[in-house]
Amino acid sequence: MILNRDSRSLPYRFQGKVTGARITKTADWWFVSLTVDLPDELPEQRQTAVGIDVGLNRLATLSTGEGYENQAFLKRALKKLRQANKRLHRRKLGSKNREKARRQLARLHYRITCLRDDALHKLSTRLVDCYGIIGIEDLNLKGLLKNRRLSRSFSDAALGKLLSLLTSKVEQRGGQVIKVGRFFPSSKTCHCCGWKWENMDLSDRVFLCQNPSCAYYQFSQDRDHNASLNILHEALHLIGLIDQVVTDIGSGDDVNWAADAG
Ligand SMILES: [Zn+2]
Repeated sequence: MILNRDSRSLPYRFQGKVTGARITKTADWWFVSLTVDLPDELPEQRQTAVGIDVGLNRLATLSTGEGYENQAFLKRALKKLRQANKRLHRRKLGSKNREKARRQLARLHYRITCLRDDALHKLSTRLVDCYGIIGIEDLNLKGLLKNRRLSRSFSDAALGKLLSLLTSKVEQRGGQVIKVGRFFPSSKTCHCCGWKWENMDLSDRVFLCQNPSCAYYQFSQDRDHNASLNILHEALHLIGLIDQVVTDIGSGDDVNWAADAG
């Protein structure tokens, strides 16, 4: 393949000088990656802050009330992955069929990576386009507590990837990502009054504050939304923008997700 140094004749969306190309092979597919020299765009400063709770039930829940679901196709792909794994282990070592099953599994792994990366890229780009300050947990403890090995590694990988994508993209735009400590009790604390639900279980999808003087007393709050508000407060606290936990930051309308929480 001969590359024209002037990318204007290449059918893709970047206009600039091609400075390099790399050919790689992943799961039986060949790829060409091109490096294109582009002028730096001046970042527009955004002062809006958001807190994000990342999890398995919902990929990301924002303090604004928005939620990004874990795509159903990923679930389907994970099911296929388990089947392919079983198939591989049934085949005789060294046989042609085993090699076939191995390649099939490699292609599936690659496909899952692509699907996940695509979702993470879209989400991270949207977030850095909208927010200058992004608070997020630095480790998915909820994911770690799950027993299913497959889903655990999946959610951990997704969180790690989302963090690194957010960090690199936000820097280009002049914003910042604030990682909230892994032991910060974002899920079990009421974002409004700070009351702690010490015995909260992973299966509790709705947060009910038991502090009678709290505005959210006995009010069904979506677990992840409450957590994302706490993450936002903690992030702002960490960078000195607020002295203590205050109420109603980043949340315009209160969204009651109790009905659809699984
Ligand atoms: Zn409360």
